[in-house]
Amino acid sequence: MRQKIVAGNWKMNTTVPQGVELAKEVVALGEKLEACKLAVAPPFTHLYAVAEVLKGSKVGLGAQNCADHKSGAYTGEISVDMLESVACEYCILGHSERRQYYGETDETLCTKINLVLEKGIKPIFCIGENLEEREAGRHFEVVEAQTKAVLYTLTPEQMKNVVVAYEPVWAIGTGKTATAEQAQEIHACVRACIAEKFGAELAEEITILYGGSCKPSNAKEIFAQKDIDGGLIGGAALKAADFIAIGESF
Ligand code: PEP
Repeated sequence: MRQKIVAGNWKMNTTVPQGVELAKEVVALGEKLEACKLAVAPPFTHLYAVAEVLKGSKVGLGAQNCADHKSGAYTGEISVDMLESVACEYCILGHSERRQYYGETDETLCTKINLVLEKGIKPIFCIGENLEEREAGRHFEVVEAQTKAVLYTLTPEQMKNVVVAYEPVWAIGTGKTATAEQAQEIHACVRACIAEKFGAELAEEITILYGGSCKPSNAKEIFAQKDIDGGLIGGAALKAADFIAIGESF
């Protein structure tokens, strides 16, 4: 059975006290949730304080990014050692906002994914086509290329610890969700692409999340799809009740 995960990407939202409150609510409301693993990825400044709140709970902690160097003179960057020291279990990598606004490339992502995996932190590796690519009918080609460029550089042992998130860029924060069918066909394509390199057995074990305007009203239909193992949630993760309701959609 693949692990089901609902992870909240808080992006650049909440102050530290607000984030601590939100984490407390997620822990309290999510206490009885058995159907999936919950995780939250607050901004870097919040990680230590949120880690304290999550201690002893089943909610995992994630970072939204990490540096592509181990340590040293890289002003403003956060290393994987630092993430490990606050007990991060996950690290989101290659989010479309990082690719689009901060020039994150496949090459940088290859470095980052290796650094994260070396520390035993699970990458949540994001892929997804933009609107222009979807309208040109290039969505399968784009996600396959993104998958191959980074994940094909890993060993099978490393690959087992990767979580993939399919996030069509046109659906992120827009209120437009991919239909369950659109999401399922891409998830199946990504799993087949993983199987081509690593074998069907390993591909069957990989958790592939959907992200893009996922909310309590549409999560059930999306999560019912065969190859969809949960969600990476942006906007709706900022309200604990909505986030937990999404987790309850399995
Ligand atoms: C995201 O950015 O990872 C995301 C899925 O955002 P939203 O849920 O707000 O579309």
